[in-house]
Amino acid sequence: MGSFVRGFTRQNIIAIAVGVLVAGAPLVAFNFWLSGVIDRQGQEETIGTAMRAVALAEQRAVQVVHVLDKLAARGVDQCGPDAIGIMQRAVFVTPPIKEIGVVGPQHQTLCSNRGSGSRDQRVISSELLTGTNPYSLDIVETEDGQHMVELRRAGDNGRALAALVPTSLFLPQVMRPGELSSAYVLVETGEGATIGEIGERPNEHYDNLFIATQRSSKFGFNVSVMTPRGQIMAGQGDLKWIGLLITGLIVAALAGFSVLTPRRSPNNPVAEMERALAAGQFVPYYQPIVDIRSGQLRGAEVLVRWRKPDGTLVPPGVFIPLAETSGMIRPMTFDLMRRVCAEAGQVVGSRPALKISFNFAGMLFSDETIVKDVRDTFAASPIRLSQVVLEVTERDPIQNFTLTRQVIAALQDLGVRIAIDDVGTGHSGLSYMLKLGVDIIKIDKMFVDAIGTDRNSTTIVETLVDLAHNMRMDVVAEGVETFEQVVHLRDLGIRSAQGYVFAPPLPGSAFLELVEAMDSLGAMGGEMPALTTAVTTEAA
Ligand code: C2E
Ligand code: CA
Ligand code: CA
Repeated sequence: MGSFVRGFTRQNIIAIAVGVLVAGAPLVAFNFWLSGVIDRQGQEETIGTAMRAVALAEQRAVQVVHVLDKLAARGVDQCGPDAIGIMQRAVFVTPPIKEIGVVGPQHQTLCSNRGSGSRDQRVISSELLTGTNPYSLDIVETEDGQHMVELRRAGDNGRALAALVPTSLFLPQVMRPGELSSAYVLVETGEGATIGEIGERPNEHYDNLFIATQRSSKFGFNVSVMTPRGQIMAGQGDLKWIGLLITGLIVAALAGFSVLTPRRSPNNPVAEMERALAAGQFVPYYQPIVDIRSGQLRGAEVLVRWRKPDGTLVPPGVFIPLAETSGMIRPMTFDLMRRVCAEAGQVVGSRPALKISFNFAGMLFSDETIVKDVRDTFAASPIRLSQVVLEVTERDPIQNFTLTRQVIAALQDLGVRIAIDDVGTGHSGLSYMLKLGVDIIKIDKMFVDAIGTDRNSTTIVETLVDLAHNMRMDVVAEGVETFEQVVHLRDLGIRSAQGYVFAPPLPGSAFLELVEAMDSLGAMGGEMPALTTAVTTEAA
């Protein structure tokens, strides 16, 4: 009986296989499979986006509640000079908060970190913040038309402490690798007032949409995400053709569908990056850092570019996030370092005053083996470790603070210096980052742009410069685009700057020419030479 069944089954399978092949069913099956993949992926990504949006909104609220609780515990509830000073410091160390103030029973601002005196704002909606007894959440429009989330902590005598955070900071800003760039995201308060939205609400029938809603259990925020099915289909267009081809091959070889895993498909971006790395397509560009007092070159920041065989240059924002999540960032970073050693080693090594900065993803600092790798990478190069700067961005959350601090200390023992990048834009808070014991802070373009026009930003930069000098740290201003900014920065006591006003990131050959040209300028005693005339375009 058993052998009969086995025999029958085998024959049966062959018969079915032949029938199926003749009928072209593999293609049908493939399409069915592809449609399943799209459904699963669309649903997962949509839910993932919603969950991350809820987590972000919660994180913002937790941060603000924490700060206001601390202020309340310190007795800040009226408008003495002490209170204003404390509020100023709190705003300064908590980047998302733009303003903290004491408000009266009629919602009027009595004083704030900007000083005494009232401010006008239109209240769009107001409700109690779920799960937090003394707190209310308002959406307000400030004098300059910005929408803000205001969290108010009720105190005594009808007064309250209030903090303002731009509504945009409650929305996911940067799409993660593989995430749908075209998802529509709506974030609402517990009572349904709109905090903000990203993208355009799709007008397709809901059959053609992936929809996810998530509610914050902590504060009641509601997030809705919608992704048109067409978006995901479009992303899989190539896969469909490849599928056709592979299906044909299967028919010929009578192979199974199991080889059709997406990881092997040439469409897989991680595999594509791995090949590009092996082929040496990730190349360093160098953006000069200039001493704005003497006009001399202080060094350069290395910025990676993906130079495709057809000559296109892909900027790092496109591939670094995926490199970070896939673990490729480590080999990519060290490959870049080796390329810099090979290309610029001689020229930079023979000028010990020049410093070369590398962007170092935050996660790399939580593995002590990188200390040895950094040492080994530069061991045979004329570039000394004392010429190397590693930049860690304030945007990357630090996973293991103690370990990160140890790794930083070990790198500093080698002579390497550590910079905090994008100061003022991250969530970590500067005071937290400074506990890492860094040597340099890089002031983000956002502040540089606001200097001279926005008094708050100017004060923040002044405070940063003071702080840096007290802690014996260097300050570099980033994204400097105009000469006026150079003058302002110089007046504020900042010494180093980088930005398009001097030069964009340059390919190696142009940078090396520049270093040599600057030597002769230096010898001529030139003051603030116009680097802009030397090189102005970022081209391959
Ligand atoms: P970043 O470290 O903040 O680099 C500064 C960015 O500002 C660079 O963009 C640079 O081209 C641009 N920039 C410089 N001067 C100006 C200016 O005057 N005006 C304006 N509007 N922009 C200016 P880029 O090269 O596209 O790099 C973007 C980000 O990618 C970098 O931001 C950095 O976070 C990351 N990145 C670049 N290379 C690497 C790398 O090798 N490893 C890692 N982990 N990240 C990298
Ligand atoms: Ca940087
Ligand atoms: Ca930066």
